[in-house]
Amino acid sequence: MGKNKKNFERETNVSTKVSADKAKTKVNGGVFVYTGAISAGELAKTLNIPLGEVIKFLFMQGKMVTINTILDDELIGLVCLEFGYDFQKKHIVAAENFEEVEIHDDPSKLKPRAPVVTIMGHVDHGKTTLIDAIRNSNLVAGEVGGISQEIGAYQKEINGQKITFIDTPGHEAFTAMRSRGASVTDIVILVVAADDGVMPQTIEAIDHAKSAGVPIIVAINKMDKPGADPERVKNELMQHDLIAEDYGGDVICVEISAKQKTNISALLETVLLVAEMKDLKANPDRYALGTVLEAKLDRNEGPKATLLIQNGTLKEGDYLVVGSSYGKARRMTNEFKKVLKEASPSTPVSVIGLAEVPEAGDRFMAFAEESEARQIAMKRKLLKEAKEKNKSSAASLEDLYAMANSDDVQTINIIIKADSTGSAEAVKTSLEKLTTDKIKINVVRATSGAITESDILLASASKAIVYGFNVRPDAKTRAKAEEEKIEIRLHNIIYALIEELQAAMKGMLKKELVEKVTGQAEIRKLFKVSKIGTIGGCMVTDGVIKANSLVRVIRSGVVVFEGKLASLQREKDQAKEVKAGFECGMLIENYNDIKEGDIIEGYEMVEGE
Ligand code: GDP
Repeated sequence: MGKNKKNFERETNVSTKVSADKAKTKVNGGVFVYTGAISAGELAKTLNIPLGEVIKFLFMQGKMVTINTILDDELIGLVCLEFGYDFQKKHIVAAENFEEVEIHDDPSKLKPRAPVVTIMGHVDHGKTTLIDAIRNSNLVAGEVGGISQEIGAYQKEINGQKITFIDTPGHEAFTAMRSRGASVTDIVILVVAADDGVMPQTIEAIDHAKSAGVPIIVAINKMDKPGADPERVKNELMQHDLIAEDYGGDVICVEISAKQKTNISALLETVLLVAEMKDLKANPDRYALGTVLEAKLDRNEGPKATLLIQNGTLKEGDYLVVGSSYGKARRMTNEFKKVLKEASPSTPVSVIGLAEVPEAGDRFMAFAEESEARQIAMKRKLLKEAKEKNKSSAASLEDLYAMANSDDVQTINIIIKADSTGSAEAVKTSLEKLTTDKIKINVVRATSGAITESDILLASASKAIVYGFNVRPDAKTRAKAEEEKIEIRLHNIIYALIEELQAAMKGMLKKELVEKVTGQAEIRKLFKVSKIGTIGGCMVTDGVIKANSLVRVIRSGVVVFEGKLASLQREKDQAKEVKAGFECGMLIENYNDIKEGDIIEGYEMVEGE
């Protein structure tokens, strides 16, 4: 039994226990709530209207429907409006995707909340000085000035109303949050030095605030300086569509001196004014959700995070899912290190009790039951791992040695692509025989044909090495492999392949000559020249083809010939090399059997790493 439950029933944000009833359509206070397509019969039944009436109405709209016709959103809307209902489509979002959950608060439960402010501006224009001036100003009698820097956000009270300031100045923090999908700021204070005017980072800050749709208040700073010229600042701002009030616009500019602490309360009153216009509200009567502002590992207290409560109330003892781990709000403190039993919307709190250190920008959500938080965190962790697994590097030959020296039995996954099914099977059998009591060679795919992107995807998912036996990957597949960090090994002699794998397992991978592909070209046209042979009219599609390089002819992903170029021509002249995007003529030494569509791959032998 949750201890908070009896005396304080809060609304939950998401639930792992989506009851059958919840997922269904229903009428809620005159609003028809549904989750997806629904039949005419069901709709009539839920709205308590005779089916005939619904059918008749839709018929009048030119739609022939029967009891079983599935209605789309448009028809559902039409019927609802005709019969006096409002309607709302609910997207069912899995609880673990809580970032995507749309919270619909009952308007009667919404209460005003403090605005959350970020201070931005060009370097040296006085952001830090302003933050300190606000922090240390004793705006309310009895309030302690000179707050410790313990927590990266703080609240200030003016005229009985609170303002939350996020401490990290500059737009890096702001953008970092936004790039992670978190939006915490309600108002931006743009600091512009009166003696310096609009500078590059001022413009960047304007762009960030605008793209986030956050209103800007301009603090024209350093008004104490002799060169202060606020009119110039306003003129320059105008070029960036920020029109000051006295120029007929709606941007409020406040002239201040952060250093001398003049006009700071006027600036804060402006913040309150803008906040009032924004009508910022939240529902304190639900479990908390919000964003991690900063986090660290405290040597004594463990993971410690500053959380900004964006909706709901966080209470001591609540279970939290943050990022992909969960924990309990064991202890909450404010910027004065004062212990809080609960934190309402727009309050920044330092929380200990989390299992892991989250990242700034991570979202968090509070839950009533530990089991629920645990379950959701677990699912989120799995999701995260799956995502990372797809990104992380797969196995490499170098890893094999480490595996052989570890105490556990390890499995090395291998994908084999060969020029025929027979050779694929032969390679498979030979490699599987290499299995020792420490390393199990597991062939996850052995087929004939070129190495394709699908092989790379499988390799990435199964952490496999790809072996090509007489086959090649094309440039696109090669690029994909590089992106997914998949190792592709290419051989044309089965013993060489076996030896390489054995050597790797023994940790004896030698620095050998390895081949490096320089580029590829495609044969577009054939020119048969008597006494010379067949010249391939090619287009270099990737990299570069060099006159003295080794080449192989690839047809449908299979190597049909390996050798050297006899000549490389660009327009009518001999060329040393031809780059991607250019046409050329190629004659291959001792090979005239080229065909249109063949790929000529140029390569060199270089010393391996
Ligand atoms: P930030 O890079 O935007 O954080 O700028 P700082 O707050 O570090 O300020 C840069 C310099 O400008 C410091 O030397 C401050 O003392 C000075 N400064 C900041 N505000 C004022 C002001 O209102 N008047 C004067 N004269 N100097 C200021």
